[in-house]
Amino acid sequence: MSRRERKGLLMYDLIIIGGGPTGMMLASELRLHDVSVLVLERDAEPTRLVRSLGLHARSIEILDMRGLLGRFLEHGTAYPGVGRFAGIDKSQPEHLDTAHGYILGIPQPVTDRLLTERAAELGAEIRRGAEVAAFSQDEDGVTVELADGTSLRSRWMVGCDGGRSFVRRTLGIGFPGDPATTEWLLGEMDVTTPADEVAAISDEVRKTQRGFGIGPTPDGHFRAVVPAAAVSDYRSAAPDFEEFRARLRAVAGTDFGTHSPISLTRFTDATRLADQYRVGRVFLAGDAAHVHPPLGGQGLNLGMQDAFNLGWKLAADIRGWAAPDLLDTYFTERHPVAADVLTITRAQSVLIDPAPGPQAVRRLFAELMDFDDVNRFLAERIASIGIRYDLGSDHSLVGRRLRDLPSTTGRLYERMRAGRWLLLDQTGRLSIDGWSERVDRITDVGEELDAPAVLLRPDGHIAWVGEEQNALDAALHRWTADSLPGVE
Ligand SMILES: Cc1cc2nc3c(=O)[nH]c(=O)nc-3n(C[C@H](O)[C@H](O)[C@H](O)COP(=O)(O)OP(=O)(O)OC[C@H]3O[C@@H](n4cnc5c(N)ncnc54)[C@H](O)[C@@H]3O)c2cc1C
Repeated sequence: MSRRERKGLLMYDLIIIGGGPTGMMLASELRLHDVSVLVLERDAEPTRLVRSLGLHARSIEILDMRGLLGRFLEHGTAYPGVGRFAGIDKSQPEHLDTAHGYILGIPQPVTDRLLTERAAELGAEIRRGAEVAAFSQDEDGVTVELADGTSLRSRWMVGCDGGRSFVRRTLGIGFPGDPATTEWLLGEMDVTTPADEVAAISDEVRKTQRGFGIGPTPDGHFRAVVPAAAVSDYRSAAPDFEEFRARLRAVAGTDFGTHSPISLTRFTDATRLADQYRVGRVFLAGDAAHVHPPLGGQGLNLGMQDAFNLGWKLAADIRGWAAPDLLDTYFTERHPVAADVLTITRAQSVLIDPAPGPQAVRRLFAELMDFDDVNRFLAERIASIGIRYDLGSDHSLVGRRLRDLPSTTGRLYERMRAGRWLLLDQTGRLSIDGWSERVDRITDVGEELDAPAVLLRPDGHIAWVGEEQNALDAALHRWTADSLPGVE
């Protein structure tokens, strides 16, 4: 790792602000390329608050590509189905384009812990209780000031510091969208009311109250969500437990004998998207770049996938082989994806509204989903497996990610552990001479790939499809600063 002193300041290649799932995923991706990474996390201890309850197919795929899926499966539960649109109950669509057609139920504190362990194992330096209070940038790098007065320096910085991002606000990046109109209180606690009675009351209240719910957690407590009386002025402050119980009584007619709160928080339906993801040497990723209500359970997934897109690009720049426009492709690829998540979240918000109009649309939607193509279209949107980045090619595969493929010598995703480029060469005659420092090649591709040769980026998206050597060389030259073979 190339951490060093410069003008009396510790100098890193990359400082990440925020040790949530986005920050930790990003740290691991950079460490695969031996880049020095420091993660600064404000909270001294990990939170026990359970926000996300699970992972969708694309996140499961990226865990698989990096050899992490085993440990997630050990701590989670695989539920059949790839994500229900607005909670509309339909069977799994046929011919889903993934080897992981399930939702992985896993509480966010466990996801956060596993991603943190992985980043630490790979050598990322993680400082807890380290709140960033200021930063400034110049041509060569970024100087970061902690609240305790410590100064640090890095070549690049990424704000993965959540929806109220200090980094985004300091950069003055616009965050247009819809302000909060509804606030909910979320908490984990114990109850004295018997579980079947809790379930019956919850079912009844849900018929008229959007977003209400209370039910048991896998570890024997109860998780409750209840609409707040109004959108509060101090949304970063956790609700008082008495306020929480009062809202349960007001909405459900009972507080279920709730006691012993484990965690309490508030969230809203604010829906916003940053209008830039980068200013100079500072990027945004995850909730810092986009916020939306948790319908469909996509926020954490989106953040992990932002990190997966940005990681190898930043590493390429730091290691000196990025094409001049490579870092800009982070915004051009990921901003439309986040915009789409906001669209489908807004649509689902309408479909769960108990008012008669939205409920009529919901019934119609449910009927449309009986068409398998519609069902699959929506499932792939939620699971983020239908994404196609615009890489300037007309070929229908270019820009898409490739599902895992079996072959006689092992699965495709098992060959992607190191985060390198990969050429799947069914022609058996293409060469990676001149590129082998960053590109691997396999000829045993299996029978499912319907193309002579495919070039996969480190994030598993297809950069090129073809069979001619000079076209392959041109594609690699387009993505890297490396010269064409034989050209100085
Ligand atoms: C009720 C609820 C349910 C949800 N359910 C789902 C779901 O089922 N599926 C899903 O995918 N998503 C879900 N989400 C969304 C998910 O929780 C977030 O999208 C995810 O946590 C974002 O990760 P992040 O790393 O970008 O930000 P965060 O997890 O918010 O992490 C940001 C980190 O930055 C730190 N930080 C902030 N400021 C500073 C600073 N100045 N200096 C240093 N550190 C700082 C914070 O302490 C925090 O640890 C849900 C959210 C809510 C509220």
